Amino acid sequence: MAELYDLVIIGGGPGGYNGAIRAGQLGLKVACIEKGKTLGGTCLNVGCIPSKALLHASEAFEDVSGHYGDLGIKTTGLALDLDKMMAAKTETVDGLTKGIAFLFKKNKVEHITGTGCIAGTGQVEVTDAKGKKSILQTKNTVIATGSEVTPLPGVEIDEKRIVSSTGALSLTKVPKSMVVIGAGVIGLELGSVWRRLGTKVSVVEYLPRILPGADGEIAKQAARIFKRQGFDFHLGMKVTGVEKLKSKLKLTMEPANGGEAQTLEAETVLVCIGRRPFTQGLGLEEAGVKTDARGFIETDHWKTGAPGIWAVGDCTRGPMLAHKAEEEGVACAEAIAGKAAHVNYGVIPGVVYTAPEIAWVGRTEEELKSAGIAYKKGAFPFSANSRARANHATQGFVKVLADATTDEILGVHMMGPNVSEMIGEAALAMEFRAASEDIARTCHAHPTLSEALRQAAMGVEGWTMQM
Ligand code: FAD
Ligand code: NAD
Repeated sequence: MAELYDLVIIGGGPGGYNGAIRAGQLGLKVACIEKGKTLGGTCLNVGCIPSKALLHASEAFEDVSGHYGDLGIKTTGLALDLDKMMAAKTETVDGLTKGIAFLFKKNKVEHITGTGCIAGTGQVEVTDAKGKKSILQTKNTVIATGSEVTPLPGVEIDEKRIVSSTGALSLTKVPKSMVVIGAGVIGLELGSVWRRLGTKVSVVEYLPRILPGADGEIAKQAARIFKRQGFDFHLGMKVTGVEKLKSKLKLTMEPANGGEAQTLEAETVLVCIGRRPFTQGLGLEEAGVKTDARGFIETDHWKTGAPGIWAVGDCTRGPMLAHKAEEEGVACAEAIAGKAAHVNYGVIPGVVYTAPEIAWVGRTEEELKSAGIAYKKGAFPFSANSRARANHATQGFVKVLADATTDEILGVHMMGPNVSEMIGEAALAMEFRAASEDIARTCHAHPTLSEALRQAAMGVEGWTMQM
């Protein structure tokens, strides 16, 4: 008689591996099936971590070549060693994926390398690299198979000249020019990496604005800053095709609302118009697991409609973020263990790791207006924050939105230095359903960037102390 698992997780990304570790901690018998060579999924292998490694290194390169001069640091003989930069990125990724394998051992999670699919009630079939099949018996199955790049019809990705984010993270030389299709998170982050290393970057975006989903005021200011950095934006334009010529690529686009076609030429094209759920070959239909029109698995508290089958992360609806997948993986494991499990979907921060960084949590002004919720607003610019001034990093501002009657914080939006770290304070405050006055009356160390959040919160009641 085969062993009976409490749960088998298909997919070893942030949704799958965090869920598996939590299940192990709770004493459940758990296996995690991953088809890739390493654990960590998109996030560790070709997403969050390698992109942040290159963002950090390229920002340092740009700082040394420009910004450090303002601080009285002279440099000569500055040179880029792209191979070394890529090797440093790979070293980080390798270390972190091995770290998950270690955590699996520590928490008694069985790591199975192979491709999983649902074979029947309480059964998961695993096919290994040699095609050998085996069946696992399980009380629960968690689908955590993530997402993949959304293709653009007429633009064939070869990961060399026409790349997705995966190819853009591993280019072997700095392209002279790059057209980025999509002014979303990947376009701005990876566009920033290559622009800082010397590429002329143009961005074609279907909508009339960048970063849909971010607060409109922030996105508008960000677009101005990125333009000054050298990004060449073509907003409200749709790409109709990319022709591969011998030495260059010729991209054709036309205004989204109709009009004359235009062309752009570049050495590299980066396609980043979003990601779509990846659920191929899982046997969902046979298992009675429903998906919506866009292919996302339908869930209610991570449960699908099929008994004993759960789903978490990018393959389900909601923001496609590693920390959202992680929250769901953990909550799902806790629910399977019979514990009260909860994810607060109203408090999932979003961060764009450009320079300046952009971060937010809760609702935007546009969302509050369209929901008819009366709110008060306080804002504070980093140009008035003493630490930002000392660091010569004064771009951006912080904005706090609070309920007009109760003062409960409804949204916090930031653009500026280190706001990826500062947004945690706002998320914690919202998790405790704090009022803006709670932040305004909390003593913040001086001089710190986080004083800008406090000042913005003070601004809700009109007592910001600004020059
Ligand atoms: P995934 O990480 O995609 O993992 C799914 C895993 O399942 C994969 O390893 C896959 O190989 C495996 N799998 C699929 N099918 C099977 C099968 N049948 N059998 C076995 N294994 C299978 N998010 C952030 O929060 N912050 C960031 O800074 C950030 N940066 C990003 C940068 C880039 C370039 C990209 C592309 C994404 C980024 N993301 C970021 C998004 C983040 O990577 C995803 O939201 C996150 O990885 C989703 O986790 P997941 O576990 O749902 O899926
Ligand atoms: P995105 O949804 O952030 O942006 C896609 C952009 O492409 C949008 O602005 C959209 O309007 C535009 N677009 C869509 N179709 C188009 C077309 N035909 N022509 C021109 N523009 C078009 O998607 P992404 O940047 O590809 O990122 C994918 C996912 O990965 C996102 O959901 C994001 O959450 C995640 N991610 C997160 C981070 C982070 O948290 N820092 C970083 C990278 C990726």
